[in-house]
Amino acid sequence: MSYTYDDQNIFAKILRGEIPNKTVLETEHALAFHDIAPQAPIHVLVIPKGPYVCYDHFAQDASDAEIIGFTRAVGEVCKMMGVEENGFRLIANAGENGVQEVPHLHVHILGGRNLGRMLS
Ligand code: C5P
Repeated sequence: MSYTYDDQNIFAKILRGEIPNKTVLETEHALAFHDIAPQAPIHVLVIPKGPYVCYDHFAQDASDAEIIGFTRAVGEVCKMMGVEENGFRLIANAGENGVQEVPHLHVHILGGRNLGRMLS
């Protein structure tokens, strides 16, 4: 599948510094910031710096360095936020059926409470 990236999406604007964010971590390949409408006591979004619409776009087109850098940033944020001990959830919504609101790949890190069963 080929993807068209909209560089006017809100996370592209955050990456360009046009919209403020509450940064948790910034690395060469990733930016992590607090979700503006948290669904749990800890709700952080991690986004790659490259122009990738969703997870499969990223997996298909990103370089190995970007994939490693992004994956390590997700792990680092989990450690920073202290969610490792009691557990957490990662979510990456994609496309229409995934009800993805912002068309720039983002991984939600949710923790700080029992999140319940996601699938039933
Ligand atoms: O996965 P999905 O695309 O639905 O999630 C987008 C997320 O981006 C939402 O949780 C929303 O609260 C968050 N958001 C944000 N800052 C913005 C706009 C949206 O944290 N300026």
